[in-house]
Amino acid sequence: MGRMKEIYIQSLEEEYGDDLSGYFNEQSMYEGFSASDITCPNCMKEKLAQDSETDLKCFKCGHEFIKIGEKTIKFK
Ligand SMILES: [Zn+2]
Repeated sequence: MGRMKEIYIQSLEEEYGDDLSGYFNEQSMYEGFSASDITCPNCMKEKLAQDSETDLKCFKCGHEFIKIGEKTIKFK
């Protein structure tokens, strides 16, 4: 794995330059989440990300919500 990872990171560096930390943050932030079509009712700027049947989170303002109906959510 060690060698593969080195090559992987090297190719990322070529693509992203010195901004690797930003790349990795973005990846881990969205890991395990799927996009919903519900706009965040707190900041109204970003669609909520869904990480389970009932848990939603806004990556813009950081608020978390619980889904209580088809299109209904409430603040956690
Ligand atoms: Zn928000």
